[in-house]
Amino acid sequence: GSTIGILGGGQLGRMLSVAAARLGLKTVIFEPGGDCPASHVANYHLQAEYTDKDALRRFADSVDVITYEFENIPTSALDILESLKPIRPGREALRISQDRLTEKEFLTSLGLSVAPYADIPDAAALEAALGTIGTPSILKTRRFGYDGKGQARLMSPADAPAALVAMNGTPAVLEGFVDFTAEVSIIAARGLDGSVSCYDPGENVHREGILRTTTVPASLSAALRTDAVLLAAKVLNALDYVGVMGVELFVTPGGLIVNEIAPRVHNSGHWTQNGCVVDQFEQHVRAVAGWPLGDGSRYADVVMENLIGEDVERVAGLAGERGVAVHLYGKGEVKAGRKMGHVNKVG
Ligand code: ATP
Ligand code: MG
Ligand code: MG
Repeated sequence: GSTIGILGGGQLGRMLSVAAARLGLKTVIFEPGGDCPASHVANYHLQAEYTDKDALRRFADSVDVITYEFENIPTSALDILESLKPIRPGREALRISQDRLTEKEFLTSLGLSVAPYADIPDAAALEAALGTIGTPSILKTRRFGYDGKGQARLMSPADAPAALVAMNGTPAVLEGFVDFTAEVSIIAARGLDGSVSCYDPGENVHREGILRTTTVPASLSAALRTDAVLLAAKVLNALDYVGVMGVELFVTPGGLIVNEIAPRVHNSGHWTQNGCVVDQFEQHVRAVAGWPLGDGSRYADVVMENLIGEDVERVAGLAGERGVAVHLYGKGEVKAGRKMGHVNKVG
């Protein structure tokens, strides 16, 4: 197809649009918000709600293939879109990654390791789970969490009531705290023909639940590097996946534990923009448009640093530094915790 429809108009949609334009492809953004980052660069911004069936139909009619930059797209909208145009990555990847419980069950069924977990529909379930999983542990909403939102840490069973209040009555999972030596992620792509290509794993540092930096190369043994690639490929094949996926991993003395999967381009893959011939955004566009996957091998050492909230004020200074590439998202208002842009420090 020559026009790609993108659900979601944030920075990921923006960078996908830029990559599509470089390949001579057009993009149409579906996004309820007005002045969104992707609308500044896409060919067209269809501003409508996900409940607007006519708008969804018009969107699907105007594109050849549909992709997305976030995983929480309402099922009712997907049903309409799916009857009109291919959605890539497909519905199964969305269904599984929309719900932490379903996701953990799926990963376990593939023989992959996840943190000890339990379904927490109510207070009684939490009490029972604290008996088996214990503390420290983390209670997470099953759906809609990102950037560490919808999570409460339990240092002792006495924290249970407050943690439940933080869940606001929504279904949750309890996860045992993983004593990791590092966090890494693998950005993997699968083409329409089933070929798989993985980027070099990046090492991630989070603060207050938000990704701060990704460093390549990660400090990871050759054996674990191979494990990361094999497990990502296993996930992609199991879902008959088309597109780029981010797989977040904990490194432990006992091996790799999967934290979560994201069926889209991923913040921890932004380093590829300045470290590879074909970055994660172009790779995703290639896959969903049915092109062959490109060369994603890493040709430089990179540190990606997110510019969060007031951090963006450092851009003027950073921009003149040797080896620094600046990526800004065109967001007007600076808010605490808001991702305003990132820099890739090369070499
Ligand atoms: P994202 O923006 O990546 O989607 P999220 O809101 O889904 O974030 P998680 O990835 O579940 O959040 O958790 C955010 C961070 O909190 C993790 O990257 C890790 O640093 C820490 N964390 C989460 N779960 C655990 C765990 N079970 N054990 C140890 N640390 C954890
Ligand atoms: Mg997440
Ligand atoms: Mg995460």
